[in-house]
Amino acid sequence: MPNVSFAVPPAPPVARRVHVPVPGPEACARCRHFETVDGQGESWGACRRHAPVVAARGAGDLRGWPLVYAVNRCGDFDRAYDPPLTGA
Ligand code: SF4
Repeated sequence: MPNVSFAVPPAPPVARRVHVPVPGPEACARCRHFETVDGQGESWGACRRHAPVVAARGAGDLRGWPLVYAVNRCGDFDRAYDPPLTGA
């Protein structure tokens, strides 16, 4: 049997992240399921805890994530870690 060797590439550098919980009282704005909506400020956003829902509105259906106020909170609150990077 031929002697076969394989070159093992070096492991990629490991990015070190410090997982810091978002401080403050429990509220949608600090939940990892909360996502602000472009151009709508920080006072409300979409809850992405579950799949989009269908809501009948007028003549058609509207599909999307429920909109919640940043100060709201539900029983599925899960504190966000590592605030989103800005300017990336
Ligand atoms: S409604 Fe509940 S799960 Fe959704 S963002 Fe607010 S606290 Fe999180």
